[in-house]
Amino acid sequence: GLFGNKGWTPAWRNPAPKAEYDMIIIGGGGHGLSTAYYLAKNHGYTNIAVVEKGYLGSGNIGRNTTIVRANYFLPGNSEFYSHSMKLWEGMEADLNYNVMHSQRGLINLFHSDGQRDAFVRRGNMMINQGDDAELLDREGVRALLPYLDFEQTRFPIYGGLLHRRGGSARHDAVAWGYARGADQRGVDLIQNCEVTGIDIENGVVKGVQTTRGAIRAKKVGIIVAGRSGQVAAMAGMRLPIESHVLQAFVSEGLKPVIDHVISFGMGHFYISQSDKGGLVFGGDLDFYASYASRGNLPMVEHVMEAGMTLMPMIGRAKVLRSWGGIMDMTPDGSPIIDKTPVEGLYIDCGWNYGGFKAVPASGWCMAHLMATDTPHEVAAKFRLDRFRTGHILDEEGTGSQHN
Ligand code: FAD
Repeated sequence: GLFGNKGWTPAWRNPAPKAEYDMIIIGGGGHGLSTAYYLAKNHGYTNIAVVEKGYLGSGNIGRNTTIVRANYFLPGNSEFYSHSMKLWEGMEADLNYNVMHSQRGLINLFHSDGQRDAFVRRGNMMINQGDDAELLDREGVRALLPYLDFEQTRFPIYGGLLHRRGGSARHDAVAWGYARGADQRGVDLIQNCEVTGIDIENGVVKGVQTTRGAIRAKKVGIIVAGRSGQVAAMAGMRLPIESHVLQAFVSEGLKPVIDHVISFGMGHFYISQSDKGGLVFGGDLDFYASYASRGNLPMVEHVMEAGMTLMPMIGRAKVLRSWGGIMDMTPDGSPIIDKTPVEGLYIDCGWNYGGFKAVPASGWCMAHLMATDTPHEVAAKFRLDRFRTGHILDEEGTGSQHN
């Protein structure tokens, strides 16, 4: 920075779009970049472009609160996130990139007997899946998180479910690592190029229209998170998705004080501390459909109140900034990785609050689907037609421990 950014070697090329590719990925977020990376690495496709309307990592991949966990309950979700966790654990070596993956442990607090029962069941599912879970009683939580308010009576702390392999990672480094890895394998990463139309002839995809001209392709993947509804509409599809804004907050940098990720589901609040020292925290959606990536004050107030209820000490810290991201919400809280009714057109979307932890497995499974035309076994339940057939994966209830 002090040298005016001169003399730096770019981490990836900045190519102009070619007239034709074997495959085009629409969207240069975490999922689009990881899909391109695994298409090249696992399946040998290199004549691919990722077409991104802004700059790489400008979407939710650079806006989330970085929680990585494998504590899902339902068959269908549980094996997928378990697979993702294993990919996280090998990611830095695979990409040769420091994404600051930190398995500092995630603690989901519970505040009633009923909630404890639900977390016992969840913990058993996690262990059956081969992941880790430990039930903490009140004193077990106090030993790890002595700064919580154990005297408050509104939501008394009964205990917590500890997931030691859960934690966080530096979100934009994940985008950069996959981008560099894809570029090194020949993938064209085309920035400032918005897809404005999808070309379809006789039910078969032929390519895309963009602000930098038409690009032909044999296969196209829509991987645009909060813009999924709009881009799918270009192919005549109406998705079972609503876009909502989710806000997040970071405090001024503090000395190390919170060394876990803590989720306070009853208060719709969660918090961790970044490696720079900022307390990173957030809550629930703003609860109205929107494409504006900024939120409103009532949710700000709600989040601050919940934080103060749980750990009054944070009232002494100053909020440095807040921001929002557009979430692609499905009715059952689970994602979609599937073919579409248009031949050669695929979709990966519906990540709700929780798509950061899914970045590696989503790319892995979407690449498998696009390369082989069959769903990967750990993503086989993420079907687009489940809202018509009723085979839903209703894990929206994990909202209490979302992100
Ligand atoms: P994005 O990065 O949004 O990528 C989509 C890309 O598509 C964008 O770059 C966009 O510019 C591009 N695009 C859109 N339309 C077009 C077009 N027409 N042409 C070309 N390009 C287009 N998940 C977790 O697991 N843990 C968390 O702790 C967590 N916290 C979160 C906190 C907040 C505040 C937010 C907003 C999200 C959080 N998430 C979390 C969710 C997670 O960030 C998302 O689910 C995930 O990043 C979405 O996938 P993506 O990275 O591919 O999306």
